Amino acid sequence: MKRIKHGVPQPFQTEAPSAWISRLVMAQRLDSVGELFNFIELSNKGDIDRLLVDKKMASLRHRCHLPKSSFDAHERLMQGVARCKVDPTKLMLMTASGKACFKFCPHCLADPNRQFMPIEWRFAQWCYCPAHHCLMMDSCPNCHAPIEHPVHVESSPAAQRGYAGLRRCLQCSELLCSDALIRDCSRGWDAIQGLERSIVDNGRALIAALHEGSFVVGGRSYTLDYLRVVVKWGLLPSALRYRGCIDDRIVGGAASRSSSAP
Ligand SMILES: [Zn+2]
Ligand SMILES: [Zn+2]
Repeated sequence: MKRIKHGVPQPFQTEAPSAWISRLVMAQRLDSVGELFNFIELSNKGDIDRLLVDKKMASLRHRCHLPKSSFDAHERLMQGVARCKVDPTKLMLMTASGKACFKFCPHCLADPNRQFMPIEWRFAQWCYCPAHHCLMMDSCPNCHAPIEHPVHVESSPAAQRGYAGLRRCLQCSELLCSDALIRDCSRGWDAIQGLERSIVDNGRALIAALHEGSFVVGGRSYTLDYLRVVVKWGLLPSALRYRGCIDDRIVGGAASRSSSAP
């Protein structure tokens, strides 16, 4: 690959670069993700979203002819992650090799105007979709494969079976936005109350704090350094997952047994 062709997908305002790269590789009809990484002179190792800030992000924008404001929301969040001094593996979902993983909202993926993966979906603490009032899912409900990016969609097992796109699990091709899944995630949110809802709210506040560079507790403003203390308090909802206590309650039986905090 010597130059970018026409048809570069425009990034959505909150899109994660790692997932956008999957869309770009598809749009440019490349044979591999590596081909694109050679072109943008970046190593396809580790967490691409955390790497793509400052000069590297500027270089990506330049090489792909993107507006200067592209991925602004992503950059602010990643700068917050770097500044807060909390171990990134406690905040962001990734594979054992450090590759980016995502939660997802089935309802969002069903919307033809929202066919992208927002950077917030990388965060373990982002448990709830405020647009649809439902819980996020952590992995494919059928085969439990994580949702990873960037990937070469066209060579995935799902694409071999005739399905290629971000709305399906790329391993087993299960639709990630079926009516049944949307219904279950909405019921999951209805099933949690009290302290659990407060912890979910704390997770959303965490993302806002990383974005803004500060946060407020009890009317007092703190810098991001103080987040380490909040993490020690255990007030972040990384353990609150759809495929866990909430799921058990939906499918029945565990509702009466499981009333403890996540
Ligand atoms: Zn949603
Ligand atoms: Zn699957």
